[in-house]
Amino acid sequence: MTLKLWNTMANTLEEIDPIVAGEIRMYNCGPTVYSDPHIGNFRSFLMADLLRRVVDQRGFKTTQIMNITDVGHLTTDDVADATGEDKLEKKAREEGLDPFEIARNYEKIFHDNAEQLHLRKAHAYPRATDHIPEMITMIEQLIERGHAYEVPGVGVYFRVQSFDQYGCLSGNTLENLDSGSRIAVDDRKESPHDFALWKIDEKHLMQWDSPWGRGFPGWHIECSAMSHKYLGGTFDIHTGGEDNIFPHHECEIAQSVGSGVGEFAKVWVHARHLLVDGEKMSKSKGNFFTINDLFEKGYQGYEIRYSLINSHYRQPMNFTLQGLEGDSKAIQRIRSLREKLQAAESESATATEDLQQRLQSARRSFDDCIDDDLNISGALGVLHEEVRWLGREEPAGEGAGQALEFLRHCDEILGVIFVEEESAEEELSEECMGWIRDREQARKDKDWALADELRDRLKDAGVLIEDGPEGTTWSRIR
Ligand SMILES: [Zn+2]
Repeated sequence: MTLKLWNTMANTLEEIDPIVAGEIRMYNCGPTVYSDPHIGNFRSFLMADLLRRVVDQRGFKTTQIMNITDVGHLTTDDVADATGEDKLEKKAREEGLDPFEIARNYEKIFHDNAEQLHLRKAHAYPRATDHIPEMITMIEQLIERGHAYEVPGVGVYFRVQSFDQYGCLSGNTLENLDSGSRIAVDDRKESPHDFALWKIDEKHLMQWDSPWGRGFPGWHIECSAMSHKYLGGTFDIHTGGEDNIFPHHECEIAQSVGSGVGEFAKVWVHARHLLVDGEKMSKSKGNFFTINDLFEKGYQGYEIRYSLINSHYRQPMNFTLQGLEGDSKAIQRIRSLREKLQAAESESATATEDLQQRLQSARRSFDDCIDDDLNISGALGVLHEEVRWLGREEPAGEGAGQALEFLRHCDEILGVIFVEEESAEEELSEECMGWIRDREQARKDKDWALADELRDRLKDAGVLIEDGPEGTTWSRIR
């Protein structure tokens, strides 16, 4: 395949060379379903979606798997052997619900957001809690091969010392880790670096039987067990956010390769962090945005999507509301050209030679950018230049048809030009719709005072009314 990606493992740009000719198998670390997904989560999921769309467009048979983490992800997760409270249980306590209810509620919000942002559906979204037997089998294999050991009454740990490649992805070899001082010493473990595969805990609200006692799995084992089940022991691409590199992905490699199921992922792709207003996003700083926050501000899915994909995945992205506003204007320009072309397509006119050649070469340049490690900003540069040219040229008939075909080709990757939003009317409250109807009636009755009053009332509710030659239209005030 002509697609090149930056492989974190090799620390270099690599051409993707499918293990099985004509097929790409990809695993994406998915959401931990304990809160509303935020824009940083979706930056990483959207990167996976772009990859999926490229592979689909190039004609490969794709298998894309994204896991749903619904148990075992503890609050202090920046060390291999995480500590603290289970994120699901903490949320369950705060909301006074059962952790399974929390998991299903937030899983649904994740799927809703993914659909609203036009992500293609993965081929499966396996949940950790549905794969406890597979995890237990893998832990047994690790014990058998000397890579894990049981501490009676406590659980099972991965023996990091036994795995020479530990640190191959992150550079966090045991030697490097020893020089850091953050690792808590625990007498029950052979080494402070060893991490839990199974934790015996009868107080944990989500618990299962295991050969070692009732408890729950460590966070990392789910991805090793589920990728093996759905993709086999060796597959093409594994993605995640850069914060997954260590410990999560380093531990996944140790477990999967250590258990002997295969070589695990060939290419590792990681999305850089997202900043908001130049700072790390945090609830206390008030610069924290969930996807639903942006919907509440009146943005459409395609606008949010465009804003989150338009910078390179390996560059830190700085999100600002002002930037989103600018991005929204940029995508509106492309969408209004699309509408004009669609209206002009039925006219009878042939395409000029010049137009055909231009579109062909633009399409090649667009593809070249995408193939170059998903250079979306480069690809968008090509697209916007063509949009400006087409806007001046105003092709009709066959020419408009060919221009639309070019836009469709770009949109197979971008997913922002042809996607349709729910009709805007459905989003307005019944009350506002009622005022709009009353105002129309008032205008018919020439009751200008009432019409103006209703206009003001709508304005206070955030709805702008405009009377044009084609009738009255409304839009949301931002
Ligand atoms: Zn994972």
